[in-house]
Amino acid sequence: MQRAYNFNAGPSALPQEVLDRAQAELLNFKGTGMSVMELSHRSKEYDQVHQQAISDLRSLMRIPDDYHVLFLQGGASLQFSMIPMNFLTADKTADYILTGSWSQKALDEAKKFGNTNVIASSKDEKYNFIPEIDVNNLSDNSAYVHITSNNTIYGTQWEKYPTYKNEPLIADMSSDILSREINVEQFDMIYAGAQKNLGPSGVTVVIIKDSLLKQGNQNLPTMLDYNTHVNSNSLYNTPPTFSIYMLSLVLEWVKEQGGVPAIEAKNHEKAALLYNTIDDSDGFYKAHAKKGSRSIMNVSFTLPSDELTKKFLAQAKDKGFVGLNGHRSIGGCRASIYNAVPLESVRALAAFMDEFKSNN
Ligand code: PMP
Repeated sequence: MQRAYNFNAGPSALPQEVLDRAQAELLNFKGTGMSVMELSHRSKEYDQVHQQAISDLRSLMRIPDDYHVLFLQGGASLQFSMIPMNFLTADKTADYILTGSWSQKALDEAKKFGNTNVIASSKDEKYNFIPEIDVNNLSDNSAYVHITSNNTIYGTQWEKYPTYKNEPLIADMSSDILSREINVEQFDMIYAGAQKNLGPSGVTVVIIKDSLLKQGNQNLPTMLDYNTHVNSNSLYNTPPTFSIYMLSLVLEWVKEQGGVPAIEAKNHEKAALLYNTIDDSDGFYKAHAKKGSRSIMNVSFTLPSDELTKKFLAQAKDKGFVGLNGHRSIGGCRASIYNAVPLESVRALAAFMDEFKSNN
């Protein structure tokens, strides 16, 4: 069987080893005679999966003990609402840094709950860079600062995060969690939909510092209050057990690859292959992101004309490349090269790009 060269932006490629293992365990998980999907979420077999996923994420990301790890539903998009519901109190202002459509969506939700402020933005230049941050440029009584660590559509990524003295920093890491080493302690909260680097859709990982929880609004609907999920270890209601199981397999795979440092090195190698192809193409291909802000996860690029773009995408499809269309908001092309995308797929794409350029 020929696996596709999968460059989907999310849901996206999963490691073949993980899929093989899930297939092998599908009908009879650890001698239970049942699939993980059929186990009670209160059973000891499921509990082990749940705990293992939490402890593996803790060790891979070096998450300190005063942070909670939660598995929630509703996607990263529900976090856009839960964050202001929980932390934007009436006396405060929430600060947002706009680096793309997802940060804009996060901001739009916060506006429904209280005062907001945009402290930096690259909107005027089609979000093609990460703006410089003056850390003193904050609202007087800032509830938190929200950033999007990697901009899935525009292909930009923060190289160095801003550091604030007292204000909580919250990051949407949906499209680059676990792709490179970070210091979790720089953040008060990190969240990510799983469907890019962590597993299938259906589970959203939230990493939240205990001190932030204590500052929250009271009397929220039970399911929308982070305390509910902290107090029940994400088992207040039925969690997405199969997605969490897949997440646990992906985390095991990351460990087998040598952990985050090894994954990061491979990600740089993959990204360099594509950016070098683009930069060495005498302007035939152009990266959307400026140098210094380029993402190692999503490589967004254009060709000289719409006709050539269409032709490129059609030929790419014929050769088995999937998911190379740019997002409808910016057009062009995009290769999402998350952790599970093999180096061989990226090599094949780079070779195809060279060949297409020569022929056209
Ligand atoms: N944030 C970012 C950076 C994303 O890329 C996406 C999805 N592509 C989202 C948020 C929304 O995630 P979800 O579909 O899980 O709500």
